[in-house]
Amino acid sequence: SFKKIQSALISVYYKDGLAPIISKLHEEGVVLYSTGGTQQFIEEMGIPVIPVEDLTGYPSIFGGRVKTLHPKVFGGILYRRDLASDVEVANQFEIPALDLVMVDLYPFEETVASGASDEDIIEKIDIGGISLIRGAAKNFNDVLIVSSRSQYGEVLDIFAAQGASTNLEQRRNFAGKAFAVSSGYDSAIQSYFAGESNNLHKFDHLPSQTLRYGENPHQTATFYGDIDALFTKLNGKELSYNNLVDVDACLALLDEFKETAFVIIKHTNACGVATGSSVKEAYQKALSCDPVSAFGGVLACNGEVDKAAAEEINSLFCEILIAPSYSDEALEILKSKKNRILLQRKPQEFSKNMFKTLLNGVLEQDKDLVMEEVADFKTVTEKAPTEQELKALAFALKICKHTKSNTIVLAKEGQLLASGVGQTSRVDALKQAIEKAAEFGFDLNGSVMASDAFFPFPDCVEIAGKAGITAVTQPGGSIKDKDSVDYCNQNGIAMVMTGIRHFKH
Ligand code: 5GP
Repeated sequence: SFKKIQSALISVYYKDGLAPIISKLHEEGVVLYSTGGTQQFIEEMGIPVIPVEDLTGYPSIFGGRVKTLHPKVFGGILYRRDLASDVEVANQFEIPALDLVMVDLYPFEETVASGASDEDIIEKIDIGGISLIRGAAKNFNDVLIVSSRSQYGEVLDIFAAQGASTNLEQRRNFAGKAFAVSSGYDSAIQSYFAGESNNLHKFDHLPSQTLRYGENPHQTATFYGDIDALFTKLNGKELSYNNLVDVDACLALLDEFKETAFVIIKHTNACGVATGSSVKEAYQKALSCDPVSAFGGVLACNGEVDKAAAEEINSLFCEILIAPSYSDEALEILKSKKNRILLQRKPQEFSKNMFKTLLNGVLEQDKDLVMEEVADFKTVTEKAPTEQELKALAFALKICKHTKSNTIVLAKEGQLLASGVGQTSRVDALKQAIEKAAEFGFDLNGSVMASDAFFPFPDCVEIAGKAGITAVTQPGGSIKDKDSVDYCNQNGIAMVMTGIRHFKH
């Protein structure tokens, strides 16, 4: 049910974007209270506003340090409208209800970033504003809190749809945002005190672990998260920054497979992937893809590592091996190298979103969790892929999705033959893959190709066809798709389109 806003306290640092909301509130007959600068802004709009001083009986004092900090203000925000004793006290002390609180905090981070003096920075620690935000958010049952000017748009949408009123779910939602604002604000202040003012906010609510160093030895690093919730470490040294990055990449790819599979990762890209009838066989097939790159790699499989598999793996120098379980004999063999990290994986799911920092900000997105199977393939050539080719295409596509773009993956019968990774052109990725396959003795005749994105020109299928590749998967969607399809038709190549692009940058 909707609750009508009767009165609002507005105290914002930046006044931009404020006018439409003030107009709307006025139109809806909401009584406005406000602090100095904001009050002046509203008055200049020709809209009546009650100075908060009239409520508190105090002017803004100590250079603005104390403006709204008063029981009449906080009482008006915090008293429970549905509790008779609270209402009685509010009446007794003539405390008016404040149903909407709009605050935009002093710009602490901007002041720090501007290179201001310590004195100026300290003065930009908002006290009343933060308290208003926390108070109003706590009492979301009765009060709507708008805690940043970035929320004005959403508020206006709500008001446009339902007048100056909100339901409980909406108020609770804004309360959640408010605590994100207040915790972010406090963590910026904390970073400033810690001398880390150029750093982005950290994930201080997560457990953290200082790493020996970052991507390079001159970089410091911390992991925010709980490794122990994911793995039991059975052997070896501490996981490094690069180890963590590769473990994540390794498991993301491995988890695409339901059948027994083995993955070898170097610098986040697969240099060996295979399925097999046993862990040992899958390992051997994965290793043979590129035994040179596998040196120092991160390895993972989805079946128990038994003695036979362990004997094989033992002769490879690898950083990390991850498995759901190990036989006792396997563990004994693998523990012979004391630095080799052996992780036993616990049944834990991974987060479904991801973050990346850039341009002094953070990008968040859903992880790429879409994976096409054979049933999703749309044959676009006269020739359809054989049963075997279809399986190989689905296999290749899984690897493709988890390899840095631009990428081309060549595969055959549950084995990665070669890939081109992180190239600035798709043709280069293909050429790299063909060259690598030849280097490690693979015959590409009858092999398949997967591409993470469409072919802008027919050159890729031409080169692939000449190398002996007989089936191709790609998303499609290029204006020149037809050129690639024509070439395939003329040369007996089968092509399927998926409609799904898998960039990974
Ligand atoms: P105005 O421009 O309206 O005078 O001030 C608005 C700013 O004052 C807002 O950023 C708000 O967060 C902040 N503010 C409101 N009440 C108080 C208070 O009691 N103490 C301090 N330090 N800041 C306050």
